[in-house]
Amino acid sequence: MRYRIRSFIACIVAFSTTGIAVAGTLQVNGLSISYPDGLEAQAREAAEAASEVLLPLRAEFAALRTAMAEPQAVAGRIAGLLGAPEQAGTIADNLDHFSPMSQALEGLFSDWRIFRRSELVATGGLREGPVSIVYDAQSDKLTWEVSFGSDQRLTGRAFLLLIVNAEGEFCIGDDHGLEEHIAHSVEGLAGFSVAALHEVTECAMAVGLGLHHPYARWFNEGVSNWVAFQVGREYAPLLAVVFLSCCLPTDADQPVRGSMNLFSWPQKTYANQAIPQSGEGNERLLYAASTELIQQVLREQPPDALAEIIGRLKSTRNPSTKAICAAVQATTGVDCWELLLDYAPEDVRNGIREGRAPALYSEAKEKALRGDYSGAIDLLESAIEIGPSDPDAHLCLAWALRKVGGREEEAEGHVRMVVALLRSSGGGRVAPCAAEDTEMIYLLGRISQHAGQLSRARELFGAVLQRDPDHKAARSALAELDDQGAATGP
Ligand SMILES: [Zn+2]
Repeated sequence: MRYRIRSFIACIVAFSTTGIAVAGTLQVNGLSISYPDGLEAQAREAAEAASEVLLPLRAEFAALRTAMAEPQAVAGRIAGLLGAPEQAGTIADNLDHFSPMSQALEGLFSDWRIFRRSELVATGGLREGPVSIVYDAQSDKLTWEVSFGSDQRLTGRAFLLLIVNAEGEFCIGDDHGLEEHIAHSVEGLAGFSVAALHEVTECAMAVGLGLHHPYARWFNEGVSNWVAFQVGREYAPLLAVVFLSCCLPTDADQPVRGSMNLFSWPQKTYANQAIPQSGEGNERLLYAASTELIQQVLREQPPDALAEIIGRLKSTRNPSTKAICAAVQATTGVDCWELLLDYAPEDVRNGIREGRAPALYSEAKEKALRGDYSGAIDLLESAIEIGPSDPDAHLCLAWALRKVGGREEEAEGHVRMVVALLRSSGGGRVAPCAAEDTEMIYLLGRISQHAGQLSRARELFGAVLQRDPDHKAARSALAELDDQGAATGP
C-alpha cells in the first residue's frame, strides 16, 4: 500500500543536507535540534513543542521497533488474527524487510533540523533518498513529498525538517506553523510505524491465503488496516490510535463521499493497468471507507471472528465481494452487503439493488452493434460500476473503446481485467459481443496471450492480419509473442 494520505506526505523526511551551514545543536531529552546562525530561540521553541507530543510516542516507537526486530511474535499475532498460523513464517520474513524503514524513522524521534526558508530557496530544495523538497520559483512555493513504500530502499537515518521564514517564524508548508507541523509529522510517524503491519497482512491475504479477487480490494485494505491496528496497539497504543484515525474518513471527505464506489475499486495490480475507477483521485477516501467498513463489521465481534470469516473463504479461490459478504454474515450476523451499499453512489446502489447491470449490458451491446460506440461506452461504464465482475462487459467495453479509437490503452486495461476475472472464477469463457469483428478477434488474441494460451493467441492475431494486413496492434502483438519465444505455447 502506498500511503497517499495527505498528512503522511506532510511528514518531511530527509537524509542529508550537505551544503547548508549549521550554527549549533540543542540537546534536549535525547532530541537534538540543529539550527542555522541566529535561530537558537526557534530551536528552543521547537524543543518545547516536541516534549509535549513527540516524546511520549518515542517510547512506543521504540517498543514497536524492538518487537519488529524479532518479528516472530508479531507475525504470530497477525497470523492468529487471520486464522492462518501456517503463514507466520512468511509474515515474519516479510516484516524483516521493513527494518531499514524503521531504522530510518528512528531519526525522526531524535534528530530535528531547522532551515531558513531562504536557504532552501537558494539551493532549490533538497533531494535525498525518498524525499524531495522542491522550490518552484514561479509560484514561490516549497513543496515536499516523501514516498515510504515498502519497495523503497532506505539507508541511514531520517531527520525531521523545520523551516523558518525571514521573520523568524516557523513556516512549514508555507501556511501552517510549528504545532500543526509536528502534529502532522506525528500522524506521519504513526502511519509509517504501523504501516508495515498493514503491508505484511495484505501480502499474507493475497499471496498466502488466495484472497485477491480483482474487485474485493475493500476487504483486503480494510482487513489489513484492522489487523495493523489490533497488533500495533499491543506495542504502541498511542501510535496505533493515531494511525487508525488517519485511516478513517474525515469531515473533509464528506463532499466527495457520494461519488465513491467501493464495489468497483480494483486491486492495486489492476488499478495500475489503466483501469479507470470511479472517484479517481479519491483513493485516500476509498482506503478510509474500507477501514471504516471493516471496523463496523468487526466492532462487537469476538476476537476470532475474522479468523472464522477467512476460514469460511478458504475453499474458494479469490472469493468475490458476494462470497465475502456471505462469509461475514454467516460468522457475525452483520449484513455486510447492505453496509457496502452505503459506500456506493446512489444510482449505483439502486442499480445493484434492482439488478440492473445485465439490462444495461444488453442495451449497450445493441448500441455498439449499431455503431454507436460512444453511447455504448457510457452504458458499459455504468454497467461495470454496478456489476464490475462481469468479464463480458469489460470485453465489450474494450471493443467499443478500440472501435471509437484513441483509447487503446484503456481497452488493454479492460482486457487484462477480463483475464483476471476469468482466472479468479477458476476459468470460464467469455461470450464476446460482435464475435466476428476484426477488433474483437484481436482482443480475444490479447486475452489468450495474457492467459498464457500462446498458440491460440498466434492463431487469432494471424486471423486479424488475414482480414487486415495493416493491423498494427496485431503485428506488434505477434512480435511480442516472437520475443517471448512463444511459437510452441500451449
Ligand atoms: Zn494496502
